[in-house]
Amino acid sequence: MSLPDLKNFDRARLAAFVSELDLPAFRTAQIFSWLYRPGTVSFQQMTDISKQLRAELEQRATITTLTPSVIERSKDGTIKFAFELADSHLIESVLIPEGERNTLCVSSQVGCAMGCGFCLTGGLGLRRNLLPSEIVGQVQAIRDQLLAEDKGGINNLVFMGMGEPLANLDNLLVALDILLDQGGLDFSDRRITVSTCGLVPQMLRFGAASRVNLAVSLHSVRNDIRDKLMPVNRTYPVEALLQACREYPLAPRKRIMFEYILLKDINDSDTDARELAMKLRGIRCKINLLPYNETDGLPYRRPDRGRIENFQQILWQHNYTVLVRESRGGDISAACGQLAGKRLRADAPV
Ligand code: SAH
Ligand code: SF4
Repeated sequence: MSLPDLKNFDRARLAAFVSELDLPAFRTAQIFSWLYRPGTVSFQQMTDISKQLRAELEQRATITTLTPSVIERSKDGTIKFAFELADSHLIESVLIPEGERNTLCVSSQVGCAMGCGFCLTGGLGLRRNLLPSEIVGQVQAIRDQLLAEDKGGINNLVFMGMGEPLANLDNLLVALDILLDQGGLDFSDRRITVSTCGLVPQMLRFGAASRVNLAVSLHSVRNDIRDKLMPVNRTYPVEALLQACREYPLAPRKRIMFEYILLKDINDSDTDARELAMKLRGIRCKINLLPYNETDGLPYRRPDRGRIENFQQILWQHNYTVLVRESRGGDISAACGQLAGKRLRADAPV
């Protein structure tokens, strides 16, 4: 039987492991904080633990570490990291510096089963869920890389890379526990955002279990359009999704973030904007407009500047908070929807 990887355990599960070994409870905090310290790759480094106990831990468990196999840097400062997993699958994470702040976009699955027609990851289908250690491992590896380059820390974490995070809910919740734990990655819940295409039952389970921010990829409030763009809408149509948003247990001062890709001649008319404004009425929210990032082989186009501004204007007139978020890192295929974990060329820049 293979040994458990302690990085798949949140603090409570690690405490159970410690007690199974008949160790005193204080070992939990000690081991947990070692696991997420920069540079820890083995039990041997845990120098305040006796040699005998380190040897025992080595026989009972493992620690895995993700190391980027390729790092690509965009002209605009965006950095894409590719990680090769133990079973050779590739995943990608993207670091987006904005002024003094660094936002990291992480993956939650290899591929995605949701099949949205405009998204390159969707075209892969689902290969498998990421383990908690693989989700947290992306953050840990990139935090350490930034430390080594003296480029500050990670200020925001968004689950907008490959995969549908709420389709991997159990592992996501363990990963979030570790990311939020002071002895783990020590993020504040205000700095983490999980994005979903609209899996309604999982959204409600997630809301009950976690206080991090929720983003909902809406893209249209018309079922005929959303059905075509996002197959998930045939199971959870707009009405069910917006009802779940109304019921969502939002902490005070928090808002749901709606993401809306603007697709030329599909969902970008003045009527679409007005309908959107009407349907979101009463939901505490903000809206991010994402001009479509055109992708090789897919027929969708981005609207021109004027159309994007009109759309935003109409939402402003209805008193919504609206931002237009331009994709970054297009020259290195690091922009929204481009993450597909392609086998990268062996001679790609490192
Ligand atoms: N599966 C989740 C999170 C990953 S996708 C979700 O769908 O929300 C993150 C965001 O990128 C989603 O809003 C998605 O609709 C958007 N996206 C996908 N392809 C895109 C593209 N080509 N241009 C702009 N945004 C895109
Ligand atoms: Fe999956 Fe999100 Fe892409 Fe849809 S947009 S296929 S849910 S990753």
